[in-house]
Amino acid sequence: MSAEKKAKKPDKRYYRKRVELFRLIDKIKLWPSRRGILHGIKTIEKLGDQAQITTHCNKAFMVNDSKNSRAARWLRNKWFKGVCGVCRIPDWKLEKYSSTQFKRQYGSLLTEKNEQIPP
Ligand SMILES: [Zn+2]
Repeated sequence: MSAEKKAKKPDKRYYRKRVELFRLIDKIKLWPSRRGILHGIKTIEKLGDQAQITTHCNKAFMVNDSKNSRAARWLRNKWFKGVCGVCRIPDWKLEKYSSTQFKRQYGSLLTEKNEQIPP
């Protein structure tokens, strides 16, 4: 076993502030509850403009695809008090999330082609 175990910081990634909620959670697989607890998302089942989300701690709920919903805002602003102990979100995922920046004029909209459309 080689001892080269670098604590590499994840690359910064940039997403648009106006990215659609479903695309965002599809990508980062995290959900901030109203109580400020960050859960890991197990499945997202899209049903029109709503989706049923199931977390790793087996909570299921419906959400609307809105860029301005509470969850979308909290995710962008990284507002959470704690991390769900049942979901066991891996550290790398939290690090990746914390290195993610949300910009108004720059970054991916997370569309299929992952294009970075100028404003
Ligand atoms: Zn949880």
